[in-house]
Amino acid sequence: MMLPIVTLRDKNSVLRTRTAEAARADDPAVQKLIDDMIVTMYEKDGIGLAAPQVNRSYRISVLCPYPERFEEYREKKNDALVIINPVIVRHSLFKEDGEEGCLSVPEIFGVVRRWKSVTVAYSDREGAKKTVQASGLLARCLQHEIDHLDGILFVDRTKKLYHVPKL
Ligand SMILES: [Zn+2]
Repeated sequence: MMLPIVTLRDKNSVLRTRTAEAARADDPAVQKLIDDMIVTMYEKDGIGLAAPQVNRSYRISVLCPYPERFEEYREKKNDALVIINPVIVRHSLFKEDGEEGCLSVPEIFGVVRRWKSVTVAYSDREGAKKTVQASGLLARCLQHEIDHLDGILFVDRTKKLYHVPKL
């Protein structure tokens, strides 16, 4: 089921709230939410989506596991990297600049400095403890999605913003 995405304009949403609640994989409501978030992410052409973006205060994000192969994953619709209670446990020495956008900040893009690579510890949707090591676009996406769980948007981390109107 597609879920409505909240944007910066929705003043009464949890988008800007730090998510304190640790999500439990054995909660059926959490499993349903994850399924709906995956459908919504691919339907909206996003490479990542965090629970606060659908106005749910859970520490859960879903991501396209290979953002460079987004088209292929969008076709499948159900294959996503699901991270519950994620924590960055290691990162590279250096950061790099890259362009970002966000489904919750429509038509705005900006350059954000992020760690070049990160290792993230998380629980998967079966409740198993895992880690993922990533660089490039996936590393950027992980940092962006984890920020969402703390109520932080990419616009908070950039000084260069661009407005690109949707045609
Ligand atoms: Zn976002």
